[in-house]
Amino acid sequence: MLNLDRDHDKAHGGTDAFVRPAEQSSADTPPNMQRRVFITTSLATIAGLALWQWTRPRALAVVAASESREVTVVRFSDSGQRLNRVSTAKVIKSADLWRKQLSANAYDITRNADTELAFSGKYWNLHEKGVYRCVCCDNALFDSATKFDSGTGWPSFWAPIAKENVTETRDTTLGMVRIAVSCTECDGHLGHVFDDGPEPTGLRYCMNSASLRFAKQV
Ligand SMILES: [Zn+2]
Repeated sequence: MLNLDRDHDKAHGGTDAFVRPAEQSSADTPPNMQRRVFITTSLATIAGLALWQWTRPRALAVVAASESREVTVVRFSDSGQRLNRVSTAKVIKSADLWRKQLSANAYDITRNADTELAFSGKYWNLHEKGVYRCVCCDNALFDSATKFDSGTGWPSFWAPIAKENVTETRDTTLGMVRIAVSCTECDGHLGHVFDDGPEPTGLRYCMNSASLRFAKQV
């Protein structure tokens, strides 16, 4: 834990602030006192570690309970048929589990809101019939019937498959005001929505291929 504090201090540029008081006290304090302080500090550290280990699972459980919440989404078949509207627990996983499940590219985009290079993804030029699902949790996101050629190099749709299945939030990163789009079921970042799309909605859902998994209509 001390190391964490020291790293934290370094990360904020205060490299000397942590070390200096200890160096000063060692010059002014008798050796026996230093030894006693060291032992006391060590015992306190061990006790603290033991307490931390003992309480950690409970603390994590509390966090998990507060984060686990129900979301409502609509289920679809791969042919785009609307099945049913369900209430389900939001998909929550640790960063390590997402890393194991996803490619590095898909992880950066879905979990850290990165953006793939234009014309680099596998779906911007795909014209087959089917459903585009979330690469993280398989939630249905877009129907190929709403896909259009935007010329941007990213797969573009004029509507989500169901409004419940995507979540839109204001995004002010990169000095722009945009509307970010994420998967309702797992919070995976998908892309952004703009108001320069075609009829009937006038919207352009500009998505990352890496956030999607295409399920071909059978
Ligand atoms: Zn998802």
